[in-house]
Amino acid sequence: MRQVILALLVVTPLGCSRCGQREQAAPPRQESDRPAAAASRAAPVPIIDSHVHITPLPETMNMALQIFSQVGVTKFAVKSAGAPGTLRYKETVRFAEILGEKMAFFANLDWDGIDDPGWGEREADRVEQAMRDGASGIKIFKALGLGVRLKNGKLMRVDDPRMEPIWQRAGKVGAIVAWHVADPVAFFKPVDKNNERYEELSMAPEWSFYGKDFPGHDELLAQRDRVVERHPKTTFLGIHLANYPESLDYVDRLLDRCPNMYVDTSARLGEIGRHPVEKVRAFFIKHQDRILFGTDLIVTPNGMQLGSTQENPPTFEDALRFYKDHRHFFETADRNIDHPTPIQGRWKINGIHLPGAVLRKIYVENADRLIFAHRREYLRSHAGPEKK
Ligand SMILES: [Zn+2]
Repeated sequence: MRQVILALLVVTPLGCSRCGQREQAAPPRQESDRPAAAASRAAPVPIIDSHVHITPLPETMNMALQIFSQVGVTKFAVKSAGAPGTLRYKETVRFAEILGEKMAFFANLDWDGIDDPGWGEREADRVEQAMRDGASGIKIFKALGLGVRLKNGKLMRVDDPRMEPIWQRAGKVGAIVAWHVADPVAFFKPVDKNNERYEELSMAPEWSFYGKDFPGHDELLAQRDRVVERHPKTTFLGIHLANYPESLDYVDRLLDRCPNMYVDTSARLGEIGRHPVEKVRAFFIKHQDRILFGTDLIVTPNGMQLGSTQENPPTFEDALRFYKDHRHFFETADRNIDHPTPIQGRWKINGIHLPGAVLRKIYVENADRLIFAHRREYLRSHAGPEKK
């Protein structure tokens, strides 16, 4: 049964008019399309995309699987399975059951009832439930610190003690805490022509956290870092390069200080690639066991997002280009190349041409060890005769 559904998922033709995609619109990968360094290899190094969002529907899952098969993504982790008990969660778990080890997922918290004294324990129980359902951990959105408000109207702090039961339980049951704290530094600055993300913020004004009662970028990260330091037995995954790709020195120090901290590269190659190339390369080589490849690809029934918003809805070909730009950065030494999400800044970046062994860790091995080991364990222990 599982094989049948999987086969259906992979081959069912699905046109998505909103995305401008037609079946088989993507030409087969041409040798000449590949970055210089990659072209010399027999086959592209496979990739685990550790950070995607896919609405759990056949059409969106099909779209994502078609993209992945074209760009060499062999496994992926959905960061927005929803809160246990919701329809989104149930459907995401169902797709994970169908796809087996190919797909991992992270559950999300339910902020409802945040003022109730039992909220933290309730959510900690749900984290444990999600792990029993085969999740790899939980993903906490930037809402913590920038959106969730208490009854008194104040924004809940990132290091609020209400979260304690969750941090502790996550450590106890081996749930990875993937965490988005704050946002790009420019989102905390005045939105005017001097803001280097003016183009992006003009299209998504609600992403500005300048003024009002929002804490500053550095304050939010300081609160996060205290939590990570206080919970050495809990593994944290600081997505978007721990939300400080603007300062490699900061992230370097954080990783040195906190062995329980990992980072992913999602939606931040534009920032990462802006630093002097030798510095970036040295950073990736130094922390080669703690960095996970991720893109933040979003696939919904209303279209896709490739790291950020953009003027025209992305097409299937745009998604292929998005992954190609990632490979170009990691695999070649080319200078002045495009970064994957141009709206994040109209500048060019330089490829860092990682050594093969480092590339494999960042593309595959780190995510496999951190995220998919639990998935394998779950599948092994649930492999009943009816699924064989
Ligand atoms: Zn994301």
